[in-house]
Amino acid sequence: MPQSLPPSSRTALVRALRLKCPACGQGALYRAYLKPVETCACCGAPLGQVPSEDGPAWLTVLMLAPFLVAVTFFVSMSDLPLWITLPGAAIAVTGAVMLALPRIKAGWIGVLWSMGKVGPSQE
Ligand SMILES: [Zn+2]
Repeated sequence: MPQSLPPSSRTALVRALRLKCPACGQGALYRAYLKPVETCACCGAPLGQVPSEDGPAWLTVLMLAPFLVAVTFFVSMSDLPLWITLPGAAIAVTGAVMLALPRIKAGWIGVLWSMGKVGPSQE
């Protein structure tokens, strides 16, 4: 495939979910926890200009809702003392969000990038 053709949305999504540049799959997508690089160090794709805004946060809540319901159900039905279950539930929920959010945001950026949605928000 010539380098000038952009990858498919699926390829861009898979590369982004590995926290790599959706364009080339080589450069890092983030420079910090949720901060995308301005441009890919390998191919120069303008990843910092993809408008992700609050979409990833919304999608993270939507995707983790069944897990949060299960944790809440476990806490309410458990015979363990609350001083164990509540901190355990808080750690599980916070950890799940901390792990999922960068990957969901990366996938969001990858799909938007593959669709050519680069630049300031067009609201
Ligand atoms: Zn790249």
